[in-house]
Amino acid sequence: MHDENCIFCKIAKGEIPTSVVYEDDKVIAFDDMEPLMPVHTLIIPKDHYSDVADNVPEDVLGHLFATVQKVADIKGIHEDGFRLLVNTGENASQSVRHLHVHVLGGGLMPRPND
Ligand code: IMP
Repeated sequence: MHDENCIFCKIAKGEIPTSVVYEDDKVIAFDDMEPLMPVHTLIIPKDHYSDVADNVPEDVLGHLFATVQKVADIKGIHEDGFRLLVNTGENASQSVRHLHVHVLGGGLMPRPND
């Protein structure tokens, strides 16, 4: 369940130094290297799935999204709110083909249509 050419698989295996926010046996959360907001953390499953539509088992998806609350608590953005973003495939300009959830917060974000 690993792709040796995938940068997020390398992060999951601890092969690339990363600012780890949370980690357990199934997921790892780390700060985005090019943050778009004061808080910009990525949550990934340790197993490799190219995106959310890559036949990801429901327990993996459940665990991934359950981790959102932990990250929000650790980062102190739970109360004021935050945004989740899951780019999927070419039309969404997904740049890293390993499923990840962006957790964005720490300030007011415009609505997507504004
Ligand atoms: P995407 O466009 O949804 O695929 O987002 C990929 C994100 O991964 C971007 O926001 C990048 O800044 C981030 N990123 C890529 N490589 C690394 C890394 O090595 N460490 C932390 N973040 C990364």
